[in-house]
Amino acid sequence: MITYFPEIYPDELLYSQLARCYVKAGYPVYIYMAEDFFQDKKVRPDIEFINTFTSAAFRVVTRETTINEIIMKHTMFPYYGRFISKERRSKAYQALMGMKGNYNNPLPKVKSCQDRFLRYCPLCVTADRDKFGETYWHRNHQIIGINVCPIHRCYLKNSEVVISAKASPILHYAEEVMPQKDNVEMIENDIECVVAEYVMAVFQSDLDMDSDIEVGNFLHSRMIGTKYCSARGRKRYMELLHEDFISYYEKLSENRIKELWQLQKIFTNDRSNFVEVCLLAHFLKVPVDDLVNMKVPDVPQDEVFDAEIKRLHEKGLKYPEIAKRLGMSYDSVKTIGNGRYGKYKHRKENPKKGGVRERDWTKLDDEYLPLVQKAIQRIENDEMSMPKKVTVIGIERDVGLPEGSMKKMPKCKAEVKNYSIPQEQLWAKKVVWAVQKILSERQPLNWKHIRNLTNMRNENFQACKPYLEMYADSDMVEKIRELL
Ligand SMILES: [Zn+2]
Repeated sequence: MITYFPEIYPDELLYSQLARCYVKAGYPVYIYMAEDFFQDKKVRPDIEFINTFTSAAFRVVTRETTINEIIMKHTMFPYYGRFISKERRSKAYQALMGMKGNYNNPLPKVKSCQDRFLRYCPLCVTADRDKFGETYWHRNHQIIGINVCPIHRCYLKNSEVVISAKASPILHYAEEVMPQKDNVEMIENDIECVVAEYVMAVFQSDLDMDSDIEVGNFLHSRMIGTKYCSARGRKRYMELLHEDFISYYEKLSENRIKELWQLQKIFTNDRSNFVEVCLLAHFLKVPVDDLVNMKVPDVPQDEVFDAEIKRLHEKGLKYPEIAKRLGMSYDSVKTIGNGRYGKYKHRKENPKKGGVRERDWTKLDDEYLPLVQKAIQRIENDEMSMPKKVTVIGIERDVGLPEGSMKKMPKCKAEVKNYSIPQEQLWAKKVVWAVQKILSERQPLNWKHIRNLTNMRNENFQACKPYLEMYADSDMVEKIRELL
């Protein structure tokens, strides 16, 4: 019979509340507690989530609150579930509500090469003891990837309690596990605290279960208007973004995003780790409130941009004037103005359309994606030969896919499209490459030399001039512009 159940503390793990109950209710051995509380008395108490309660325990646990409140405020669900798709999120939530063990399937796993332990902040421990007469396990300290307490600006510490599916079933009362005296290591480095504060604020914000905005699309929309995105909003300048991202977080003790493709996967909604998303959002200066209430513009940027060209054109402006006003090349403006820039691809596809063949393509799409990324990187990073265009057909050939395959492989195709650039931009890239080659070979820099190397005509050269700044510093751009 359950005779005693303590009140829950702010941000306390449900597991921690149960552990306090176990010790304070005076159960002589753990198994009696387990019999009272869990339908399966041999079950290992879940540290991050919830076990199946007996009906008596369920009544006691929810006496002062609701099961929803417990899941949202006293389990790690908001950490694992916030940035996954609406469908997966509600599947996991339903499983938790039903207290079934199968919530793990829809939630992303966070890989860690070392054992994970319950963690604590030594100064929070002191503060808890002053305020409540005992300490407890905080959710805030269990976020994988965050190693500091943002309230006290000190490093978190591992306790002896291992978080493992193999641990024996028992409840660890925090007050008994934490040392009475502990040394505190304060943090010198600001970025560590700034990030921890941001992540914690997102974690503590209410979670909108109905939000169906995918975080990659949201973050892309927040990049429009920055130097990391083309004016039309279609192309992401991932190399530049990656470089700046890495250097911004250089001093962070743990940054799991090292590679460009990892960032790219966040944008394509193939990566939804809580801390990684927060790192990218914080880097893009997205306020916490915006990240927890994600909205994307009703009309995508390329449509806005194209409509602006049409509007100016209808007002009587000629394409060269529009190009000048919008800082674009004449050719691009004319192509867009004539409606030949390709179809918009933002409209939602039905994710449920299926059948065996459809699934095969989905699998192929996933399998080929890393190969496609590698092939693109080979082209992009090849400094020895003349820059060439990244095209669907070219990449299909490169990775050994039959022509036209990518029509059915949206992820691979999107990846290629991300790197496709207008012809004028490619010319600019070629010119800069040629100039660097000429200079490194100590040959005289003149138009004839460039023309011989690139096979470009004078009008191509003129058209590429607005794009030169993307590939060269201002001194070199000046030098090139003066050539012809
Ligand atoms: Zn603290």
